[in-house]
Amino acid sequence: MERTEALNQLIRVGSDAVGMGLVQASGGNLSCRLDDNTVVITGKGTWLDRLTPDSFARITLSGEVLEGPKPSSEWKLHTRTYEVRSDARAIIHLHPQYTLLVTALGHPVRFITQDHAFYVGSYGQTKYYTNGSDELAETAAEQVASGAHDVVVLGNHGISALGDSVESAFRKALNMEEAATMTYRALLLGDTGTVFPAEELAKLRHQ
Ligand SMILES: [Zn+2]
Repeated sequence: MERTEALNQLIRVGSDAVGMGLVQASGGNLSCRLDDNTVVITGKGTWLDRLTPDSFARITLSGEVLEGPKPSSEWKLHTRTYEVRSDARAIIHLHPQYTLLVTALGHPVRFITQDHAFYVGSYGQTKYYTNGSDELAETAAEQVASGAHDVVVLGNHGISALGDSVESAFRKALNMEEAATMTYRALLLGDTGTVFPAEELAKLRHQ
């Protein structure tokens, strides 16, 4: 993707994500892979609803800073995933509360609507690792490497969603959190098993 367009899309998503309560303060970070295989990523300590084009670092996949401020301390979470998923053009890392609560309590997030099933369908999970650590970046990348998942829950921390565009990655993150919110409400109603019908899921996948 072209750099100015990538930054504009990431700035919009940052503002929307904070507005929707999917992350707070300087939590979360966003990135996009440009056509030359370098990555633009939010700078260390930036607040996602206050991003400007100067908030982004441009780095190589090995973490060398080519331009801009110091990158987010989570930069490896992004670069490791770009390394294992050549189709990933954008990665959205947020701290959505229902996904984190439901999974921390040991419940699976259930896909209940067509959108949950179609846009997310499955997710990977890691246990808690210190943010910015090699273990976190490595285990998150392992979860998506086969292509089975595009969303990973980083235990007691956040989620990482990848897509072939900023919009696609964000849509996956939004649907994941909506699925978790509905799972939470279903659990409050005493329901522990309702999901999108499996036979319909197979049809959706083959559309
Ligand atoms: Zn985080």
